[in-house]
Amino acid sequence: MQDHQLQEWVERVSLQSFGIPFRHKATFNGRLKSTGGRYFTKSHNIEISPHQLRNYGEEETEKIIKHELCHYHLHILKRGYQHRDADFKQLLAKVGGTRYCKSLPAGEKRKTEPYRFKLVCRSCGMEYLRKRKADPRRYVCGRCRGQLLLYMLDFKSQT
Ligand SMILES: [Zn+2]
Ligand SMILES: [Zn+2]
Repeated sequence: MQDHQLQEWVERVSLQSFGIPFRHKATFNGRLKSTGGRYFTKSHNIEISPHQLRNYGEEETEKIIKHELCHYHLHILKRGYQHRDADFKQLLAKVGGTRYCKSLPAGEKRKTEPYRFKLVCRSCGMEYLRKRKADPRRYVCGRCRGQLLLYMLDFKSQT
């Protein structure tokens, strides 16, 4: 797929799912490996990873386009456009965008995968960062063998 086809695709999704036109640029960026897409607050442009399209197909990629368009429209409307904002969460749920950009298969991105969870010991407070969701009942604290609790970390970058 070419950039101009992506551009038409993003414009179509914007009108169909948001009812507002997308007036900026959407391009593929082959260097995007740890995330499926990116929204730039300065230029208002959107970049989509072609690896995502290749690995997960059009349906998943459209969910990423919706995710980036949530950042885009809310930012332009001066509403809460960041992941932690209620406006963002509501709009994302309404249009059916992906919550997080889906991980690419192992090997392609390992190094840059962020920590999303932490296990915290109930007894001594020791923290263990995890990239994937883990069942805290299956582990004990390495320091005191205490019970662990699982927490989700906030996403800081607007990917
Ligand atoms: Zn402990
Ligand atoms: Zn995002």
